[in-house]
Amino acid sequence: MTQHSEALDMVLVGAGIMSATLAVLLKELDPSLKLEIVELQEAGAVESSNPWNNAGTGHAGLCELNYTPQGKDGSIDIAKAVSINTQFEVSKEFWAYMVARGTFGAPNNFINPVPHLSFVRGDKDIAFLKKRHELLSAHHTFEDMVYSEDRDTLAEWMPLMMPGRSANERIAATRSLRGTDVNFGALTNQLLAYLAAQPGVKISYSQKVTGLKRHGQRWSVDVKSLNSGDSRSLDAGFVFLGAGGGALPLLQMSGIEEGKGFGGFPVSGQWLRCDNPEVVNRHQAKVYSQAEVGAPPMSVPHLDTRVVDGKKSLLFGPYAGFTTKFLKHGSIFDLPFSVRPSNIGPMLAVARDNMDLTRYLIKEVMQSMEQRLEALRKFYPEAKAEDWRLEIAGQRVQIIKKDAKKGGVLQFGTELVAANDGTIAALLGASPGASVTVSIMLNLIERCFPEKARSQEWTQKLAEIFPAREKELASDADTYRRISAQTSEVLGLSR
Ligand SMILES: Cc1cc2nc3c(=O)[nH]c(=O)nc-3n(C[C@H](O)[C@H](O)[C@H](O)COP(=O)(O)OP(=O)(O)OC[C@H]3O[C@@H](n4cnc5c(N)ncnc54)[C@H](O)[C@@H]3O)c2cc1C
Repeated sequence: MTQHSEALDMVLVGAGIMSATLAVLLKELDPSLKLEIVELQEAGAVESSNPWNNAGTGHAGLCELNYTPQGKDGSIDIAKAVSINTQFEVSKEFWAYMVARGTFGAPNNFINPVPHLSFVRGDKDIAFLKKRHELLSAHHTFEDMVYSEDRDTLAEWMPLMMPGRSANERIAATRSLRGTDVNFGALTNQLLAYLAAQPGVKISYSQKVTGLKRHGQRWSVDVKSLNSGDSRSLDAGFVFLGAGGGALPLLQMSGIEEGKGFGGFPVSGQWLRCDNPEVVNRHQAKVYSQAEVGAPPMSVPHLDTRVVDGKKSLLFGPYAGFTTKFLKHGSIFDLPFSVRPSNIGPMLAVARDNMDLTRYLIKEVMQSMEQRLEALRKFYPEAKAEDWRLEIAGQRVQIIKKDAKKGGVLQFGTELVAANDGTIAALLGASPGASVTVSIMLNLIERCFPEKARSQEWTQKLAEIFPAREKELASDADTYRRISAQTSEVLGLSR
């Protein structure tokens, strides 16, 4: 029998970084809100937000070469890198605001300083990196970035990566000391613990959202307990589908017009992980390089210092793979069950136009451990097989979208899909993901609660939490330097 419960202001599906951030922001803006977070797993941050399911890079454009694409004429566009950098600063403002309250927990549980490096080999990529550095370091958001081809300097920056490397190999790198490693799982759990202590908040685990029905301006959300099998129905004024890979099926279930035509392309991932302290202690950096031809942007190889539960490890990868699951703990029927008359056209168009990606994924899936180690040795020439083990990363569901010219396109970013009346919103896609959650959720608040967001109360509160937003940070160098220094100080990132 289905039980009906009291009316709620909002229901958030999924206990990952997205729902946790949105719920805290909304409760700060309106402490009287009644909300429930419904999560199918037994705890928060089990899927993509878990520290071992993502790379933990605080994406700020300091090392990711794909954020500065090169045009056919050789020109380099830095706009995306600047945009991601300022969005990360906005995330830092929110985290610093929470830490400054004194009850949120220590910042080094979830964020630690780790230099970010871009590393390239060969003349063509060196010319690109040099030009990229000239452009980026002329902008205040990247003014501390340093470039070097000098082998002694590179050995100081990347001591693990230089021994065993041929003296004839031409290499170069840039380094920024403002990089971070973020344990998004710990951060999510700190946000959830903070929320659980607030009046009017309920967080339900081992409960799955199985249905969504619109009743005028409100939604009825069907929830099934995975332990007892009982069902209940929640009545909500606003629903957020923060279900990660599970957001697309829920969006389809909602039937909203704005969600039609979207499909999902799941890409799984694997890492090589090393916990041997003798190796781990010789690398203190996140080193990103160029992606292979045909590789999706999120498959850029990188060798990363990770700091999880106070312990350091190294991760190398990711190696892409293919499954039909939308969540790591999902079902192989997720992809076939997501096919609808409205998205079959875009899905077929994407299959036709992305043969390079298909070939790349097949090659990745067929790789042996020895081939994976060969890729690692391009970074760390003396890597020994016995120090590394293979781990399964989280699942990313890339967005397939209708396109007037091509029929359908594959999109590697994230997309916020919201109903016209602002009563329901879903977050699709994965990248740059957790690092820019706060900007994404601020955008959601402006779209779904436009009048309240313009009210004096909310404007004042937002200005208190966010002394400067993305646009001002990108255009005003002094403000950027001042705010960034302040948040770094509170978060324990100052050098
Ligand atoms: C391999 C990989 C590497 C990445 N690296 C980085 C990185 O270095 N830096 C970065 O910033 N980002 C990175 N990301 C992206 C980042 O991890 C994600 O953007 C972010 O964690 C997504 O958070 P979320 O809350 O949307 O989803 P999730 O953390 O996946 O949470 C969604 C939750 O919804 C629950 N759920 C699903 N369906 C239902 C349902 N029907 N009912 C109830 N609950 C449901 C799931 O169980 C899950 O707990 C990476 C992602 C991957 C996969």
